[in-house]
Amino acid sequence: MFEKILIANRGEIALRVLRACRELGVKVVAVHSEADTEAKYVKLADESVCIGPAPSAQSYLNVPSIISAAEVTDAEAIHPGYGFLSENADFAERVEQSGFVFIGPRPDTIRLMGDKVSAKDAMKAAGVPCVPGSDGALSEDAKETVKIARNIGYPVIIKAAGGGGGRGMRVVHTEAALLNAVATTRAEAQAAFGNPVVYMEKFLENPRHIEIQIMADQHGNAVYLGERDCSMQRRHQKVIEEAPAPGIDRKLIAGIGERCAKACRKIGYRGAGTFEFLYENGEFYFIEMNTRVQVEHPVTELITGIDIVQNQIRIAAGEKLRFRQRDIVLRGHAIECRINAEDPFKFTPSPGRITNWHTPGGLGVRVDSHAYNGYVVPSHYDSMIGKLIAHGDTREQAIRRMRIALSEMAVAGIKTNIPLHQALMLDSHFIEGGTSIHYLEERLADLTEVKTD
Ligand code: ADP
Repeated sequence: MFEKILIANRGEIALRVLRACRELGVKVVAVHSEADTEAKYVKLADESVCIGPAPSAQSYLNVPSIISAAEVTDAEAIHPGYGFLSENADFAERVEQSGFVFIGPRPDTIRLMGDKVSAKDAMKAAGVPCVPGSDGALSEDAKETVKIARNIGYPVIIKAAGGGGGRGMRVVHTEAALLNAVATTRAEAQAAFGNPVVYMEKFLENPRHIEIQIMADQHGNAVYLGERDCSMQRRHQKVIEEAPAPGIDRKLIAGIGERCAKACRKIGYRGAGTFEFLYENGEFYFIEMNTRVQVEHPVTELITGIDIVQNQIRIAAGEKLRFRQRDIVLRGHAIECRINAEDPFKFTPSPGRITNWHTPGGLGVRVDSHAYNGYVVPSHYDSMIGKLIAHGDTREQAIRRMRIALSEMAVAGIKTNIPLHQALMLDSHFIEGGTSIHYLEERLADLTEVKTD
């Protein structure tokens, strides 16, 4: 096992990784920007290094600064968390070339999966079903593009090969709008991701977002840890996640899970990863793979009893997986609400000082948050200030526990989306389960009325 790990991230995931290191008896180096000097995990770490000013381009994305922090503190490995540099193959390569262990897949795997076109090709070859679409990237040939769209059938979605975070996508309903949409997406993709490559997929009208968590070691073993349903989304960003996915035949899940594990063995995948699928009419369609730990990993941890972050570290240290597929037993149901510092119905960010902070507790309630009373939410980063996760023997019990937890949670000084979560936990369609990825946006207008009633 490593003696010392540097955490190249901030916020709740930095605290999450720190806790996993503590349990393994590993010392922790926190790196932070000037805006995060007072952060809880920075104080809890054994050592901390300021890596630059508040803007992430100068701190959390500053590769030379992070590498030199690892050098001066004698860290052996770097955990990238999620977001920032976690899926940056060049960073992973720099980390390894500098003599540190990157806690994640090999750089070439990250590169393969980071490009959605090559990822889809690799998955098709590995027998994972994909959304029908263009065979790879779209060329500059307008006639060809029109032909592909006709073959797929409208509506189609134009997606950037280098896209992420719900950006770089455009739905097209008619042939008249097609070429313009391709050109705009291409230009946006070039500006946002430095990669103008776009591809086309059938736009599925009413799918659910179902993803499979996998873990693979460096000795050829790979297992899947069940699935998560992340269909509650706004602007392609997840708001609520749960595991297992309500109402899907377990045999179907097992079939797709096995294929994901097999694909991991085939490409020599290492560490934790997620295969994201759209699910419609009983079929799964692969859309992308995330080669890192995900925000929503706790719901899987609660139903499997497996510590995903700790296992990422063990795998990076060369250990074999401590469980086989038949050891993975799902217990009960877990739901996660992402708590954001934002207006609950208008979604405008609400940074600032938290003047009162009370978190819930009790059986089956987990709070993953770096916030505290007096904490100042910086305006420079993502608005998520924590995650509330409830576990129960049944989905119904998990929802009940989540309602109680939300009612106990008190945050003052800033606005949060807790009222939105409270409304959703009482929403009859959510309670029924199995809503599509479009449900939340369709309901938001009504929920605004709930608030003013
Ligand atoms: P990102 O990397 O930006 O998260 P994804 O490819 O994972 O991009 O897609 C994000 C979300 O966009 C999906 O969860 C889904 O809501 C929507 N989406 C993507 N592809 C399609 C498609 N072919 N049909 C319908 N919705 C889609």
